[in-house]
Amino acid sequence: LRPSPLADLDTAALREAHSAFARAYDDLKAAGLKLDLTRGKPSAEQLDLSDDLLHLPDGRYRDAAGTDLRNYGGPTGLAELRAIFADALRVPVGQLLALGNSSLTLMHDTIAFALLHGVPGGELPWSSRPISFLAPVPGYDRHFTIAERFGIRLIPVPSDDNGPDIEAVASLLETDDSIRGMFCVPVYSNPTGAVYSEEVVRALVSLPAADDFRLIWDNAYAVHHLSDERPEPIDVLALAAEAGNPDRPLVFASTSKVTYPGAGVAFFGASPANVEWMLHNLSAQSIGPDKLNQLRHVELLRDADGLAAHMEKHRAILEPKFAAVDAAFRERLAPWGGGTWTAPSGGYFVSLDVLDGAAKRAVQLAKEAGIAVTPAGATFPYGDDPRDANIRIAPTFPPLDELTTALDGLCTAILLAEAETLLSARD
Ligand code: PMP
Repeated sequence: LRPSPLADLDTAALREAHSAFARAYDDLKAAGLKLDLTRGKPSAEQLDLSDDLLHLPDGRYRDAAGTDLRNYGGPTGLAELRAIFADALRVPVGQLLALGNSSLTLMHDTIAFALLHGVPGGELPWSSRPISFLAPVPGYDRHFTIAERFGIRLIPVPSDDNGPDIEAVASLLETDDSIRGMFCVPVYSNPTGAVYSEEVVRALVSLPAADDFRLIWDNAYAVHHLSDERPEPIDVLALAAEAGNPDRPLVFASTSKVTYPGAGVAFFGASPANVEWMLHNLSAQSIGPDKLNQLRHVELLRDADGLAAHMEKHRAILEPKFAAVDAAFRERLAPWGGGTWTAPSGGYFVSLDVLDGAAKRAVQLAKEAGIAVTPAGATFPYGDDPRDANIRIAPTFPPLDELTTALDGLCTAILLAEAETLLSARD
């Protein structure tokens, strides 16, 4: 059976291909695998890179200014740590806060603060009327969950290699005055790996919008490169100020995929007015962040060069895994026209589009064969992928040999699902 694009096969040839895929799938099921490609977690080998955190700060407890970090206080976070990340995040140290252990918590709480109290420049709390957020798709399911829990309506916006479709954004902002926010992952987007172009960023900060409209600028993967080709960091705060909308972007980031997820440090950066607003809100919530954890991070990473060197060690572990994804899809899917996928130069994910209508079935077949994949649809608000085509691949966690086995099995499940889908459309 010679591979050729499934969609072009006549029905007899498609049936033949289907039988071959079904046999391969039976073998796969009989192998009794138990593999997991669901979440973007660092592997144990990556976590090992930060194990000095387990013994730091080794009895020390003062910052450079001599402050005793064991005590309450210091709501902005450690200046030395903010200095390490300021350049990579393109946020001036004075406008960058180092806070708790999770940027997702900060995004959640920021949106809650805005709903309850409003934001600088806004007259009313967001919750004074029904509101909406723009959500570039495919996107990050945990962003969608925050909005869904707060009753914020999500409006999907198509996106491409340069970021969200600006014409669509402009026309939605013009016609829908309920829009108060937009989720953006500007560098190595989850899941496509897209990097927003400067043109897109300039448009996002300058398009006419409500005074209390905010960009949730989730720069989770700013330093997570997988190749030597590095996007020039874009200074979204400066561009927004230049455009006369200094308060529009709220920048979030964390060390979750630099050191330890859950035991790292999260950052918030914004205009002086927004930073003051944030500190005011946080002051009702906490008497200061965990500064000893921040000190450990300063001692581990040391400076911007130390951070870059640390990220190179991650890259060395991750690059072969992303290469394995590309190789598996190229070898198994491409000959059958079985999908298109992204080749990110950074971040944690690959976005795969299979033939329309086959994604849910493919993920189900993979699951039944012991290969867990992020549920199809998760990359769209309300789990609703209108084409039922997108699957997010998270290759970072499993060791390379397990990853290779899982990808091969996933391809078997995808091909069977696609042949089934095409055949049922011809019935
Ligand atoms: N934002 C994005 C885009 C992510 O992919 C992730 C982790 N998968 C997070 C935020 C979570 O960050 P944190 O651990 O800082 O809460």
